This record gives sequence, C-alpha cells and structure tokens, in this order.
Amino acid sequence: MKTVVLKFGGTSVGSIDRIKNVCKIIASYKKKNVKVLAISSAMSGVTNDLVNKSKLISNNFDKAEYDTLVSTGEQASCALIAGRLKHMGFRSRSWMSWQLPILTEGPYSGARISKIVVKELNKYLKSGGIPIITGFQGVNSELRLTTIGRSGSDASAIMLAKFIKAEECIIYTDVDGVYTTDPRQYKNAKKIKKIFYDEMLEMASLGSKVMQPTSVQDAKLNKIDIQVKSSFVKKSGTLITGSSKAFSNQIITGISSTKNDAKITIVGVKDRPGIAASIFKPLSQNLINVDMVIQNISLNGKETDLTFTIKSDDLKKTEKLIKQNKKISYKKLSFDKDVSKVSIIGVGMITTPGITYRMFQALALKKVNILVISTSEIKISVLVSTKNVKKAITVLHKEFKLD
Ligand code: ADP
Ligand code: ASP
Ligand code: MG
Repeated sequence: MKTVVLKFGGTSVGSIDRIKNVCKIIASYKKKNVKVLAISSAMSGVTNDLVNKSKLISNNFDKAEYDTLVSTGEQASCALIAGRLKHMGFRSRSWMSWQLPILTEGPYSGARISKIVVKELNKYLKSGGIPIITGFQGVNSELRLTTIGRSGSDASAIMLAKFIKAEECIIYTDVDGVYTTDPRQYKNAKKIKKIFYDEMLEMASLGSKVMQPTSVQDAKLNKIDIQVKSSFVKKSGTLITGSSKAFSNQIITGISSTKNDAKITIVGVKDRPGIAASIFKPLSQNLINVDMVIQNISLNGKETDLTFTIKSDDLKKTEKLIKQNKKISYKKLSFDKDVSKVSIIGVGMITTPGITYRMFQALALKKVNILVISTSEIKISVLVSTKNVKKAITVLHKEFKLD
C-alpha cells in the first residue's frame, strides 16, 4: 500500500471552514486506499502574533522559550484537523514533535531535522489511522522544543516523507503550483509543470516564498519528488524533481524578487589586503548575512569603494558595527533602504550564451538602473530600486517568453 505525506500551509488551515476543507482532501486520499499522514502549519497569522508577543515581553526574549512559544500554533491546528477527521468517522490523532520524537540539531529558531522516529506512526498507519503531525517544530538533545526556521513546515513534510519512506509528498498551499514569478504580484505569471531542484532552490532563496529553501535542499539531498498543489482548487500542480524526463526547453524557468533589502556603500576605504575581511568579520560575528558585494577598482591605488547588501532589518546594527570598527578608516558611509534584488533563474543558461546581455539590454530599454550584479551558473541577479521591481519583472518576463 502506497504512503503519502500531505502538508498544509497556514492559509490552507486559516479558518474553521478551511480546516474542514483540508479534512475532505485528507479523506479523499484515505478513500483511495493509501496510507496518509498530514503535516500542518499554524493557522495563518498565529505564528506572527506569537512572535509579536515575545517582543512585547522582552527585547531579549530567551531563545529556548521563544521556540517553545512560537511552535504552539501547530499544536492547535493539528488537534483541530484530527478532531474533525474523527468527527467524520475516521481514525485519527495528533502528534507533537516531542511525542514521536522529531529530533533536531543546531540553534534555536534555525534547527535542522536530523531524525524522525516513525515506529508509532507505522503502527498507527497499519491500524488504519491518519496521523496529523506538527510542522515547524522538533526537539533537541536537551529535550527542549526547537523550531526549524520560518515556513519550516515544508521541510518537516519532506523529512517525514524521507523517514516514513513515502511514495509521494504533496505541499498543499494557496496557489495551484510554482509559477514563473509570484502570481499575486504579476498577473501574466504562468504555472510551471516541472522544475529542477536546483532551479527551485535558487527561486526560493531569491525570494519566491512558495517553498522554503531548506526544504528544497532536503528534497534534493534525499531525492524526494515534491508536488505543489492548491488546497482550494482541484488542479494539477507543479512537480519539483531531479529527473530530467519531459522538461520543456525554456531557457529561463522563473523570476524571483526580494523585499526588504538594503545597500551600504563605504566610500574611500584603504585599498590593502585584509580590509574586506576586517569589515565583514564583525558582521558575521553578529549573524548579519551579507548578500551581494562589489568593490570598485581603485583609481589611485590607495582607496576604493565597497558596496554590499544586507536585509534592511539589519541596517541599524550594521551601521553601528561599521562606525565602531577601529580596524577600518573611510571617507563616507551611505545607505539605501529601498532596494530589491530581481533574479532570472534557469538551467538553460548553462548552454545558452547571451542571456546576461539580453537581461541588461531589456532593463536598459525600460530605463531600469542596475545598482549591483551577481551571477551563478543558473541565475543572474540585479539590485534595483524597489520602485522599479514590477517594471523589471514585466520586461524580463516578456523578454524570456514566459508570458
Ligand atoms: P503556505 O502558507 O501554504 O506555506 P506561503 O505563503 O508560504 O504558503 O507560499 C505561497 C505564496 O507564495 C503564494 O500565495 C504566492 O503569493 C507566493 N509566491 C511567491 N513566488 C511564487 C511563485 N513563483 N509561484 C507561486 N507562488 C509564489
Ligand atoms: N507556522 C510557521 C511559520 O509561520 C511554520 C510554517 O508555516 O511553515 O513560519
Ligand atoms: Mg510556506
């Protein structure tokens, strides 16, 4: 008998009616005579609300208590789903992470699932039951609750599919698949039938929040195919896979964009070995993630300008760290809070020359100024002013025939 893992996101369980609808989806699998397990997120808004409460209690809220607090939303939604399934006449029960357990390693708020003990689940499935399991949370070696990063239920589902050896892992969300770009931002976005793990990983990391990046990495490492589907409409979704069977010959698969980026330029820093390391060391020690970096060629061989991007939430802290840094001297610091990264992604780039030129030319014709550029084998990212993001996506979507 086939085993299927279904994951429901926050919007899909966002109200009592939606939870009832999710239970109908779960029941439809059960009726097909498969073993079905469900992972649920918290009802939409609940986790954000808990995060805000922690901030009101303390601006230095204890890390372990934070995870204990923000993981409670999943407990409620799982109990509601299991309760509804029982009401419908099915055998079902909820499982919190510590009851299995779902073991994690690494820091609070950013732990990774290392193992899921599936013995009890297998017994329950064998007896015809439907286990409903909390996403997002786990338990560490000190038996404390942990969370695995925002939107982490995607990764919980993939790791459960791995440990329970499921044939299918389906991510049910509020859109009917992965689109060429966010369908809520751009109406001409098209649904992608199949996408490679690497492309999905880049899209997710570069701002397409439909899948959490860690979860795609876990799926790739464990060779788990993922289907992304809508819990609201019955339509075929998107397959995320490593297999190259029946792929279209599209060069660019999708376009992603980020929000809340900030750009910092340090003008007139001494141009000598070790200076970049001196700038970035305190940032890394304070867990500030530096994304794009460019250093201008030094005209006089003595001084240069260094530009880099970070998340705008980190801007104040970064400014303070640079100003306090006794190891560097410079002429001026400048900041820009309203910048966003727009990226084109596609494995077709590896074999097709001229993509960079086409991207830059298309943006230039629409007078979109490029502030910073970064590339990898399968993506090109440009930093633009946030007010130009929509214009940039529109022109690139057309240029690469995604409309
Ligand atoms: P869930 O609560 O089910 O986990 P999320 O809000 O995390 O759902 O992800 C779904 C959202 O992702 C959609 O509502 C959509 O606006 C957004 N999104 C961003 N980029 C894309 C994309 N390329 N394809 C589909 N959805 C996208
Ligand atoms: N409830 C958690 C969050 O909002 C996890 C998830 O939705 O996947 O981040
Ligand atoms: Mg999500």
